[in-house]
Amino acid sequence: MLADLHTHTNASDGSLSPDDLLDRASAAGVTLLAITDHDTTAAYATLTAPKRAALRLIGGIEFSTFWQRQGVHIVGLNIDPDHAAMHAACTSQRAARQQRAEAIAERLRKQGVSGAYEGAASFAANDNIGRPHFAAYLVSIGAVTTAQQAFRKYLGGRHDAAGLDHWAPMPEVINWIRGAGGTAVLAHPSKYGLTHRKMNALTRAFRDSGGEAIEVVSGGQSEELTRTLAQLCQRHELAASVGSDFHEPGKAWAALGKMPALPADLQPVWDLW
Ligand code: AMP
Ligand code: MN
Ligand code: MN
Ligand code: MN
Repeated sequence: MLADLHTHTNASDGSLSPDDLLDRASAAGVTLLAITDHDTTAAYATLTAPKRAALRLIGGIEFSTFWQRQGVHIVGLNIDPDHAAMHAACTSQRAARQQRAEAIAERLRKQGVSGAYEGAASFAANDNIGRPHFAAYLVSIGAVTTAQQAFRKYLGGRHDAAGLDHWAPMPEVINWIRGAGGTAVLAHPSKYGLTHRKMNALTRAFRDSGGEAIEVVSGGQSEELTRTLAQLCQRHELAASVGSDFHEPGKAWAALGKMPALPADLQPVWDLW
């Protein structure tokens, strides 16, 4: 059994169609898959039946939220993608994303970058515009040379502080996931730039709000990080999840099904289902 419970398609900021993602996941030997697009479950509606049969696919999503002025991602697993409350939640987050996109474009205009909204939209295969689409536009006009640099100079960290106000608070997001029959998972805890102490406080707040698992493994990561996150998982008596955070082919550190195994002494999140 090979689980990959964190992947993206072109329904958010990934490059593959949902059908192509399933093909590639099967080819990579993945047997338990979740599509966790940012703030949408739209990918599930476009899948064709034969592709769905190739592996065990469970409902998933990745919601944007915040905790103490810090952007945080919560993955929802084993949700019903068609749940009415889930649709309502996605609609509200998508409106937030739209407003944030307009605010980002306005901020970039003041920084001397024009046409950013239309530019970003042209890189999105949908109306789910995210910062990677702005990054692609900034690279395309030569304002920066890499997406990484676009995040450093224009889109990440303090640049997005105001953007956080648009998202629903973490307890609300966790309730949405639970309401749709799912398990709330704290995504990639090491990627928020938090101190150990803060990561611990975030995990406690997440659990106190009904969160049930953390991503102990997110893509290619060091054994040391796996040990650190396994300890965090055990200290808070949470289940453990694993996912590549795949967005596009060619990224070795986020390739479908290619990550370290979960430590054997943890409770895998799929044991909850
Ligand atoms: P958004 O959902 O619009 O807030 O954008 C967040 C997404 O941007 C993440 O899911 C990643 O796909 C991507 N991302 C975040 N940080 C970086 C970075 N430093 N360089 C490139 N892409 C990034
Ligand atoms: Mn992304
Ligand atoms: Mn994320
Ligand atoms: Mn992700």
